[in-house]
Amino acid sequence: MTAPRKPILAGNWKMNHGPSQAARFFADFLNLAEPGDDRTIAFFPPAISFAAAREALQGRPDVRLGVQNVYWEESGAFTGELSVGMAKDAGAELVLVGHSERRHVFGETSEETARKVRAVLDAGLVPVLCVGETIDERRAERAEAVVAEQLAPVLEIVRADEVGELVIAYEPVWAIGTGVTATPDDARTMHAAVRERLRAAYGAEAADAVPILYGGSVKPDNAAELMSQPGVDGVLVGGASLDAAGFARIVKAAG
Ligand code: PEP
Repeated sequence: MTAPRKPILAGNWKMNHGPSQAARFFADFLNLAEPGDDRTIAFFPPAISFAAAREALQGRPDVRLGVQNVYWEESGAFTGELSVGMAKDAGAELVLVGHSERRHVFGETSEETARKVRAVLDAGLVPVLCVGETIDERRAERAEAVVAEQLAPVLEIVRADEVGELVIAYEPVWAIGTGVTATPDDARTMHAAVRERLRAAYGAEAADAVPILYGGSVKPDNAAELMSQPGVDGVLVGGASLDAAGFARIVKAAG
């Protein structure tokens, strides 16, 4: 039998909190969130705030750090990009891949996302692969099909013996930063659809080791209900992760 999946509470700061704000955030947050090994807390600060975050987290190994994006090449003439090796060297354990802002603002394709997942796995870091449909796709009843299309190139390149390293975040585009949250029913249905895809590709045992997070306007007041849905293994939080007290309440909501 597969071991129960520990809840993951992840904060994506996007392009917010420079180095001094990051230090202030952790000074507050670490006072509010007791160390614990019954859940995983992770933050994705902007790359320029990574060192400040790492410094602030000395002595709190229960709080992990990741980067918001990487490029798949190791080094070279790729102005503005970060390689996975650099992220690892800086202390990152996780990498967000295919966030909806990368896909919809910066035009990243699912094939590019898959290359990034490959590079992250090859470096021994954890890819947090984001998938989700737009409002038009949902209205056209294509939500599950779109998520399946986004997953397909990744499932092609991830082997069954390494899929347990992957984390997936279902993040409907229409819920990100909008204040509109998926209903608990919608979240449950979409998580089940993602799990089915994983089972079809890898079999139940390997697939059931993969945590699937929900993201999209998660707040302290709705986090507990979302996380109580079967198949929702935690949350990826944008806006509400910028406030130390609010994010500490979301961590407490995991139980
Ligand atoms: C996100 O950035 O992944 C996200 C879910 O943002 P928000 O919580 O602000 O909707």
